[in-house]
Amino acid sequence: MFRLDGKVALVTGGSRGIGRACAEMLGEMGATVVVNYVKGETAAKETADAILAKGGKAEISGFDVADTKATETAIDEVVKKLGRLDILVANAGIAVDGLLLRIKDEDLDRLFATNVRGAITCARCAIRPMSKAKGGRIVFMSSVVGEMGNVGQTAYAASKAAVLGAAKSIAREYASRNITVNAVAPGFIETDMTHAMTEPMKEYILKVTPLGRVGSARDVASAVAYLCSDEAGYVTGQVLRVNGGMHV
Ligand code: NAP
Repeated sequence: MFRLDGKVALVTGGSRGIGRACAEMLGEMGATVVVNYVKGETAAKETADAILAKGGKAEISGFDVADTKATETAIDEVVKKLGRLDILVANAGIAVDGLLLRIKDEDLDRLFATNVRGAITCARCAIRPMSKAKGGRIVFMSSVVGEMGNVGQTAYAASKAAVLGAAKSIAREYASRNITVNAVAPGFIETDMTHAMTEPMKEYILKVTPLGRVGSARDVASAVAYLCSDEAGYVTGQVLRVNGGMHV
């Protein structure tokens, strides 16, 4: 069950947090994992080393998903070097929070360039080799707030809702090529992104999370791993919520 031997997987933002857990889990399942990062080369190397230490195969690839040219070049190189691309986990993302009246244009542009345009660019690059191979898996990383909304997260929530629209549309467009496209919507997960949250905010989130605990990056990776597996072959255009029951 859930083996990915012989497959090549690209995890954007695989250097830290949720992406790192996804990269490690796909590596444990037998995939050759390409760990993308933008600034954290050392962290990306650590992720790749962790995969290699468990007997897996991994390499790193640094590019900014918001830079279309750099992304296209890097993904082309991956396909040329490794001969295929079976799995894309479009996970790279940033959060810029602020109440509506304080949202700046430059923050909106940066958020959408990374979280939306970046994810769609990666999917566009991955779809060619997947179409050629007549199969593939794309998983977009959305968020519980993309479905629920949240005070102070208008811009971020909008970017994560956009990702859901993209996932569902690409799922419909490429189903005939045997490519499944889904989204995972995590709740509150312990990573660098959430470390900056204030204590009262964290307490509130725990109160509205029926399972009563913060999620781990590994909780999210397990859902991603399932969607990337052969066993999930009849699942496409779906949103898998990993949120401790916060939104049902
Ligand atoms: P994180 O710990 O801040 O890690 C972000 C990752 O994305 C890092 O690997 C970072 O690379 C990479 N990245 C950021 N901008 C990039 C760019 N322009 N190009 C390439 N890589 C880039 O975040 P996280 O909490 O693991 O979040 C991962 C994803 O899950 C995001 O899409 C986030 O929106 C989503 N999510 C998180 C939570 C949560 O509670 N943590 C909840 C719902 C959804 P460097 O190391 O090079 O900086």
